[in-house]
Amino acid sequence: MLECMMARVFLAGAGPGDPELLTVKAARVIAAADVLLYDSLVDPRVVAMARADARLIDVGKRCGRHSASQAEICRLLVAQGRTGALVVRLKGGDPMVFGRATEEMDALRAAGIGFEVIPGVTAATAAAAALRCSLTRRGVARSLHFLTGHGAESGLPAHDWVSLTKSGGTLVVYMGGQTLPGLAAHFIEAGMAPGMPAVAVESVSLEGQRIMRGTIGSLPGLVVDARAAGPVIVLIGEALAEPDALDSLLLQIEMEV
Ligand code: SAH
Repeated sequence: MLECMMARVFLAGAGPGDPELLTVKAARVIAAADVLLYDSLVDPRVVAMARADARLIDVGKRCGRHSASQAEICRLLVAQGRTGALVVRLKGGDPMVFGRATEEMDALRAAGIGFEVIPGVTAATAAAAALRCSLTRRGVARSLHFLTGHGAESGLPAHDWVSLTKSGGTLVVYMGGQTLPGLAAHFIEAGMAPGMPAVAVESVSLEGQRIMRGTIGSLPGLVVDARAAGPVIVLIGEALAEPDALDSLLLQIEMEV
């Protein structure tokens, strides 16, 4: 508790984009920050919540564009932390989900700099909200798996495709927009029915949000055709089946009687 109250460095989740989805605490430290280090997935409106005289450092990392290396970001974070300034390191979504937070926390610990982590709304749950679809469902989806779609050297990661398929849970793939054709082929080869519901959501919670609905067999083609410019998250599993319009209408009538 004492460490938390004394922390001058915060690793904070910026959520999926919509500034309204920031936590109250993240909004508070952003507004108070002397220095703000942020990634490219952090929405400009969130960065604009900083004080006019705050130092803004874009350490943006997106495929193709120049970005600071992870080692440089760690060095920068430690250097800023040492000055005693109020430093906020903002990461898209939740810092602890595919956010390279371990490297940054290790660097801060090694330098003896106290820090606090502020969680954020991760892309998976923001997508579920956009789809109005629960990621878990009694008797249908009993587990939830967050996977990366991106392996070393831009290839596919070495997942245990059979176990994931057998789990019958909901699979959420981060960073899988480019590798979806390969991922889908692995799942189908591992025994997943080609008709398994699958949905891709681009730019969740932002103006450019697009929802692509299909099956594990059809979704890769839909995503390639859509030529997404924003980040894409892919959700796979029975829980993603579109609610039958007639069923929900009947349910509504039943409830009204
Ligand atoms: N820490 C982040 C994830 C970083 S990895 C989080 O918790 O959400 C980057 C991946 O996250 C993207 O490739 C994409 O799969 C997903 N992502 C992040 N923001 C997104 C958004 N607004 N819409 C769709 N996918 C998003």
